[in-house]
Amino acid sequence: MVSVRLPVTPRPYQDELLSSWMARVAARYGSEPLELVVYLAGQGGRDAGAGQVDDVAPDMGLLRQWAKACRIDPERLHRRSLAARYPDRPRDWFLTETVPVCLACFDADVAAGRDAYLRVNWRLAEQVVCPAHRTVLLDRCPACRGGLRLFFRMLNGLLRPFCRKCDAVLPGGGGEEANLLKVDFAAGVLDLQRQISRIVRSGPGRLDRLEHAVRTLWAPLDRDGAARPVLALWYDEPGWNCPFEARAAVGRSAPLQHLSVSWRALTLVILHDLFGADLVPGAVLPEAALVLFQRAAPLPWLTDGPDLRTGKGKRTIDAGAERVHRLSKRSVHRLNGNFLDERGDFGRIHP
Ligand SMILES: [Zn+2]
Ligand SMILES: [Zn+2]
Repeated sequence: MVSVRLPVTPRPYQDELLSSWMARVAARYGSEPLELVVYLAGQGGRDAGAGQVDDVAPDMGLLRQWAKACRIDPERLHRRSLAARYPDRPRDWFLTETVPVCLACFDADVAAGRDAYLRVNWRLAEQVVCPAHRTVLLDRCPACRGGLRLFFRMLNGLLRPFCRKCDAVLPGGGGEEANLLKVDFAAGVLDLQRQISRIVRSGPGRLDRLEHAVRTLWAPLDRDGAARPVLALWYDEPGWNCPFEARAAVGRSAPLQHLSVSWRALTLVILHDLFGADLVPGAVLPEAALVLFQRAAPLPWLTDGPDLRTGKGKRTIDAGAERVHRLSKRSVHRLNGNFLDERGDFGRIHP
């Protein structure tokens, strides 16, 4: 049995996602991580079924393969997984879909003369602002406006991030800071984000209350045929329809997972508006929150409070969510219900 050793491989950075490091190793050999895995596995006589790395809880066999090829201690790689770095964090507080990025961090990579790489904290569900640069993270390609999916390619001797869709290199973020409103907004959200991180780490109790609040805000409204989440009432704008990009989150058990950066940021802001500095509901709901929460459709995960982290009751939730998604994709006539005016029993919610 021959085992392959790659002659030169970059080392993982301290705050780098495993998948980012593997993408860089592969890019150095002009390939994709999956191709490299198949190559390594084929040469080593092993089954190539392992496939792509899971940043949260990577397959140990796959890590050993990479470790051997790159002459790194497999345990050291394992310590870079999200589950090992954030042992107290529930899995649904890691993003699994698009990973947003900070352009200023990529600028810093160029300035330091190193490869661009993806930071671990970009995969945290509450992370919408870069703590180092105080800029809002980016989840759309600035060139083609498509959902951001990156790959690395050599440019002037260093790996740089390129958009998979339009093949443009991601531009630097340095010139953008003139917009004071944006800077203010980012600073405000950064505070909320830090607080949410603390709540997520604090374990059950406050975390349960936080999750309940987020789920309720993104629950569908109580009218049959609802195409709007509860937080639509916060806007007090008749005719506001849930934008397409946010619909996948309506009625989900972990809505933040399915939202773009701007909607996740808005969710944090609404939590602050409704619950003040605590960000989570206490024993007595403030009036505005009470009005909103009463309008949530009764769904199993809102009323029964099952422990979603153990996976119990998953079937019901999925079935319920399916129904909700069908509904939330329908277009709404502006008089079909679910607008503030049509209940007439309360006034404006948003100050
Ligand atoms: Zn940054
Ligand atoms: Zn693009």
